[in-house]
Amino acid sequence: MDLQLTDKIVVVTGGSSGIGLAAVRGFLDAGARVAFCARGAERLNTAYAALQTEYGSERVYAAALSVLDKEAVADFASKVADRFGGCDGLITNAGQGRVSTFADTSDEAWREELELKFFSQIHPIRAFETMLKNSSAGAIVGVNSLLAYQPEPHMVCTSAARSGVQNLLKSLAGELAPAIRVNSIVLGLVDSQQWQRRFDNREDKSVSRESWYANLAASKKIPLGRLGQPEEAARALIFLASPAASYITGAQLEISGGVSRFV
Ligand code: NDP
Repeated sequence: MDLQLTDKIVVVTGGSSGIGLAAVRGFLDAGARVAFCARGAERLNTAYAALQTEYGSERVYAAALSVLDKEAVADFASKVADRFGGCDGLITNAGQGRVSTFADTSDEAWREELELKFFSQIHPIRAFETMLKNSSAGAIVGVNSLLAYQPEPHMVCTSAARSGVQNLLKSLAGELAPAIRVNSIVLGLVDSQQWQRRFDNREDKSVSRESWYANLAASKKIPLGRLGQPEEAARALIFLASPAASYITGAQLEISGGVSRFV
């Protein structure tokens, strides 16, 4: 299948690690030009340097910023316009989960979480909207979690915020059509820095990485018996953002190894 991504311009937020970095590589492999951002300059610049060497500096651009900083996101968009001349695809991927029950989430933590989940979508979408509208293949793909549909008792606040984001993306699929398609992926457990951090903080340091991950997959009852790899999530993102998905909008694709319990 031809994804028709050659020379397309794609922006990936949170592109320095995990699923975002796998998506950046995947888009570059498919022939696109890619801009990406993340907060931590050191990790971002390490990835940026490696990608410039591998794919050529004219095809890749990176900037250190938080997607919660509206002015910085707007500045990033104008740099992408200067550098590449437009934007055909936007992947709103930046973020992280919050482990907390209702009892241990303070009002301030609620506000922080709601701000992260909503404005990590809103700021980039506003900043790139005009360029996406001017593209003949404008597409947004939001990265979200199965928690939107299947809340977990230890992630109450994140789950509620993720439902709202799914609702927002559905509304945008209507409001931005037909110029821009808007889809999402909903993730189960994907082996990235988020899970690496939890492994690093495990109570019993004698447990190996292999058995910690195997126990995690078993405890979550994942039918495919393992966590997903970042590339497996990235492939779905790349398809939905590509002109090959030209008649798909307002849809969500579950990447979870079959862990959802709803029909
Ligand atoms: P990683 O921690 O590996 O990657 C997250 C990326 O987002 C990093 O590049 C990080 O860089 C960046 N980032 C985080 N916050 C911001 C911010 N405010 N502004 C800009 N960049 C930011 O995690 P994943 O690859 O797993 O996560 C990708 C997305 O998938 C996240 O939104 C996550 O919540 C979601 N997700 C992941 C699941 C999983 O099992 N892995 C499950 C469900 C959802 P830096 O910290 O330097 O800013």
